[in-house]
Amino acid sequence: MLIAVLSDIHSNLAALDAVLASIGSVDAIWHLGDVVGYGPDPERTVARLRAVGAIGVQGNHDDAVAGGESIDRFNPEGRAAAEWSRTRISDKTREYLAALPRVIVRETPAGAFTLVHGSPRDPIWEYIDSPYVAAENLAAFGTAFCLIGHSHRPLAFRTRRAGGDSMRMRVVEPEGRMQLGDRRAILNPGSVGQPRDGNPNASFLMIDTEAGVASWHRVAYDLVATQAAMAAAGLPTELIRRLARGS
Ligand code: ZN
Repeated sequence: MLIAVLSDIHSNLAALDAVLASIGSVDAIWHLGDVVGYGPDPERTVARLRAVGAIGVQGNHDDAVAGGESIDRFNPEGRAAAEWSRTRISDKTREYLAALPRVIVRETPAGAFTLVHGSPRDPIWEYIDSPYVAAENLAAFGTAFCLIGHSHRPLAFRTRRAGGDSMRMRVVEPEGRMQLGDRRAILNPGSVGQPRDGNPNASFLMIDTEAGVASWHRVAYDLVATQAAMAAAGLPTELIRRLARGS
């Protein structure tokens, strides 16, 4: 079974389409939230994800764009983009975003996975960006593996030994791989639509459950087209610029 894991697409349809073209035929597509927010194509991005049969969880931006209170915690650019997005989605898309679960558990031949946007103990807000925070979250999920987004960085946290409760953090390079063994792990695929690790290319994760391997990938997309669509929509300049920096 081949599973593509996509996170933080952020209404960047050009990036999503480049990733979908790159992954080709897979058995499942899982997303880790923040389907919308920041970018220029909220309606079509949600429609595309639904059309390919993706399942996934709610992020803070999905909640905000659906009308939720997360918007009150955003910085001015994020808030402006969320308010704009609210006026650009259909009722059907709003209902879809509002109804996304915050935690999903899936069994696979390689082990069971918990899917959340932020962290298992605080599913839409907490950032797991250190081995200490990762270790604190081990008790908050019951599966071998956990998939997270939110920080927009490709990261892998793994216990130092099987059954252990301290973790190591690895900043994953493009085409990095990890064998899914008997040590618990928390994996972040990086962001499809707004990478923040200094590399502007869309980032995603593939899980081969037969081989028991997780692998990270990058794909270039028409970034200028996304920036032009954002400019035409009047979205904040800083959000447009950061796509090219990948930060
Ligand atoms: Zn995000």
